[in-house]
Amino acid sequence: MRRPVLAVTCLLALAGCGSTPAAPPSPPPAPVSRSSPAPPAPTTPSAPATSPLTTTAPPAAPAPVVVLDPGHNGANAANPAVVNRPVPAGRGRTKPCNTTGTATDAGYPEHAFTWDVAVRVRDLLAARGVRVVLTRPDDNGIGPCVDRRAAIGNEAAAAAVVSIHADGSTDPSARGFHIAYSAPPLNEAQGEPALRLATTMRDTMVSAGLATSTYIGSAGLSPRDDLGGLNLSERPAVLVECGNMRNAAEAAAFAGPDGRRSYAAAITAGILAYLG
Ligand code: ZN
Repeated sequence: MRRPVLAVTCLLALAGCGSTPAAPPSPPPAPVSRSSPAPPAPTTPSAPATSPLTTTAPPAAPAPVVVLDPGHNGANAANPAVVNRPVPAGRGRTKPCNTTGTATDAGYPEHAFTWDVAVRVRDLLAARGVRVVLTRPDDNGIGPCVDRRAAIGNEAAAAAVVSIHADGSTDPSARGFHIAYSAPPLNEAQGEPALRLATTMRDTMVSAGLATSTYIGSAGLSPRDDLGGLNLSERPAVLVECGNMRNAAEAAAFAGPDGRRSYAAAITAGILAYLG
């Protein structure tokens, strides 16, 4: 992402160097001094054979594409026949097209949380020159199914695919985030790249002050073989479970704009750290 900016900077620098200013006016004649030799006349540097203006800067690398996948959708609950339809989920299994997601005890739904955070991450990434594709256009629709969500990342040739969720553990003391990734890997992208994306995201979220899960995975990481969106991904993909919506402290953070801004900033930083 810095590359295009640097390229532009270099181009401007070159242009600055190439636009030779007009020669300064001749200095007034020096007073003749018979006791000292005349200073040497200033020499005018000869123009370079090739003007810097003609130098061709290397083409800027295309901006990376990141696919953000906000979990669930606002109309899923009202359309069970659609969202319960079985779809391929990888490893020879099927799963429901999608699910309704969870909610805080006060009724703030997971789909609204994931949508809000995804939009914030999208805007933060776009400001850094990253092209972003969302797997759904708003928070009022149905689905898309998990296999379609994975296909969107594959078709975009995404540098990274990040699904955003929040959990609904029935244990109200359970709290903390974890990062799920496909394991054992089913393709090259699910190997080292996905694991590096997961660990980078984990490390960045910890650095942002967020605590790892007390109840799932280990040190904030959770290898999974049962998540269709991860199984079907041919790009480096992770699923961020931001925390437990049934935990009072985390529910308060999820339901408030300041808390969502913090999660979005941490997830954005994780993506940028992975992209390098
Ligand atoms: Zn979810």
